[in-house]
Amino acid sequence: MDFAVARKRMVEAQLVKRGITDQRVIGAMLNIPRHIFVEEAMSAQAYSDGSLPIGEKQTISQPFMVAKMTEMLELTGREKVLELGTGSGYQAAVLATLADRVYTVERIRPLALKARKALDSLGLLNVNLRIADGTEGWPEEAPFDAILVTAGAPEVPQCLVDQLAIGGRLVIPVGDRTDQRLVRVVRNPDGSVVGDVSLDCRFVRLIGKHGWSEEP
Ligand code: SAH
Repeated sequence: MDFAVARKRMVEAQLVKRGITDQRVIGAMLNIPRHIFVEEAMSAQAYSDGSLPIGEKQTISQPFMVAKMTEMLELTGREKVLELGTGSGYQAAVLATLADRVYTVERIRPLALKARKALDSLGLLNVNLRIADGTEGWPEEAPFDAILVTAGAPEVPQCLVDQLAIGGRLVIPVGDRTDQRLVRVVRNPDGSVVGDVSLDCRFVRLIGKHGWSEEP
């Protein structure tokens, strides 16, 4: 299988045709080998139009959702970014090529270790990974120019809003246990905070102090 060809098809059919216009996001997703972030047995499906299981009952997000959320962060290359829910590490890799520094948090150790390996194999040295409950953010490294939550939350955790820099953007799926909508929160230059809601989505749950309680 020619992965570069599959990647190009993915970008054209799934991203550009559906309205992704940020050329930096498009470039990053053309370059980053998504197949190294899934199990080898699944590498032929790595560029398909959906999420895929990555073990531990978690998933790597659909390529379009990765592109859409990244575009909503409006990255220029200078930002310090926080991601909650490292999962496979694919989204962190996209962020790492579009921002200055990435801090990513995963609560499930085996996933975090696999993600670290994949990120290292691409030489992405600007990604800091921590195994912890990400719903508390990463206060020692705050403020962040962009915060991306890649698991579904019952509400926007205030402590994450508090870790946004002036002008900073937070993107988070908010809703019930199965269905959410993407919410974007922006801290204005005067310090005030505004939010707006965009598309419907379906993420695995954000579990932690300011998320859902542990699975029954
Ligand atoms: N961004 C990932 C997809 C994430 S799936 C990728 O590119 O592959 C959501 C991930 O969030 C899961 O791995 C899950 O374990 C993790 N997660 C859920 N609650 C969390 C929390 N409180 N802190 C950190 N990670 C969390």
